[in-house]
Amino acid sequence: MDYFYTIAFFIFGAVIGSFVNVCAYRIPKGESIAYPPSHCPSCGEAIRYADNIPVVSYLILGGKCRSCGSRISLKYPIIELLTGALWAITYSRFGLSLELGYGLFFITILIVLSAIDYDIKIIPNKVLIPAMIISALLLVLYPLNIKTIPLIENLSSGWAIG
Ligand SMILES: [Zn+2]
Repeated sequence: MDYFYTIAFFIFGAVIGSFVNVCAYRIPKGESIAYPPSHCPSCGEAIRYADNIPVVSYLILGGKCRSCGSRISLKYPIIELLTGALWAITYSRFGLSLELGYGLFFITILIVLSAIDYDIKIIPNKVLIPAMIISALLLVLYPLNIKTIPLIENLSSGWAIG
């Protein structure tokens, strides 16, 4: 049954990866991440639900827009695959736990930041600052649970000694 969850987290991660692409593309431009629905950057045609399946649609359409035929960057399916893979790995590391929630949150934010950094060499504060505030709140709310993450554990024992 463990494989079932690993695969489920991979698929769900890939769907989130699709949303990561939307965020990475729109946040630096100051556009809404919720509206309008995904559209082709070349012709502006809205992407149908059936053509918006992570990775699969890219392969079926041969990496081209269905309406205008312009090439769609390989970075979109790569980010979907990467997010799916990291979600599956995070699940297999932590299982169904609170740590899994932290892990998925941080990994997803870091992929958004990396994608924007790769595109335009900027780490935008409007992603970084909310992520830092949420991280600080999580550390305050759940200090006991988060100690099980080795890096944090080392940091806190370092503080205790110092
Ligand atoms: Zn198009």
